[in-house]
Amino acid sequence: MVKPYVMGIDVGGTNTVFGVVDARGKIIEAGKMKSPSETAESYCATLSVELNKLIEHVGGKEKFNGIGIGAPNGNYYQGTIEDAPNISWGKGRVVPLANMLSAATGISTVLTNDANAAAIGEMTYGVAKGMKNFIMITLGTGVGSGIVVNGTLVYGHDGFAGELGHVIVKKDGRVCGCGRKGCLEAYASATGVARTAKEFIENGGTKSLLAQLDVNNVTSKDVYDAAMKGDKVAIAIFKETGNILGEAFANFIAFSSPEAIVLFGGLSKAGKFIMGPIQEAMDEYSLGIFKGKTKLLMSDLPESDAAVLGASALAWEIK
Ligand SMILES: [Zn+2]
Repeated sequence: MVKPYVMGIDVGGTNTVFGVVDARGKIIEAGKMKSPSETAESYCATLSVELNKLIEHVGGKEKFNGIGIGAPNGNYYQGTIEDAPNISWGKGRVVPLANMLSAATGISTVLTNDANAAAIGEMTYGVAKGMKNFIMITLGTGVGSGIVVNGTLVYGHDGFAGELGHVIVKKDGRVCGCGRKGCLEAYASATGVARTAKEFIENGGTKSLLAQLDVNNVTSKDVYDAAMKGDKVAIAIFKETGNILGEAFANFIAFSSPEAIVLFGGLSKAGKFIMGPIQEAMDEYSLGIFKGKTKLLMSDLPESDAAVLGASALAWEIK
């Protein structure tokens, strides 16, 4: 019998957030702590104490179907976090966090990367409810993705599938955080938009409101604010970003013929400035048989809860 609760944990670079979630997707208890600053072992020990408090508070471990963890570079098959970006556990370190937390709480625990968790969250509680084929794209400090085919998340042979943020969209383009050149993430992440802004201003965008700011510190939020005031350069920056995203999406569509592409994260809030150009490029570059068939949707999960909900949704799948 399925038990009434699951626990969702999102391991972020700065904070770790967690919560007890019921079958309707309501977070009934929540907590937060600073993400790993020292060793993986001390992190796990501190987190376990916090989790056990919540578990006791709602009636003990028997009430839990499982614990789900979303983490950068999370590996579903191994339950490990491998060489996690922004987390100082040592270069190349593979941390078996799922096993560690399972041992500390007595509850079965699964782990995947944060964008995969977001995809399962949308499928369980969000706009992708009932969909069997869709692609989740998270637009934040990086660009993440989760690919759902026939109702199942695609993990690939090694547990790492779905790194669409690192598809190369420009040959010999910008250097990406992964060390290669021209990745989608280098253009469509929040920092990618900021880099585009710097290029546009330096290439003659002197009349833009953005030119009044320190060009090295312009953020995607600044670009949004300027676009809202009708600034043509800011609007062109989103158009350029949307074009790159839409063209990439047309390629993704050829791969798995998704019913929808679901966007989540800061940049998706740029609304019409980005969604219009994405849709146009998607329509323009899609193969004929796919044209006009894939919906472009925005997540409707509250941003503050989405990470915990996504991770928690994974734990309903534990049999
Ligand atoms: Zn990359």
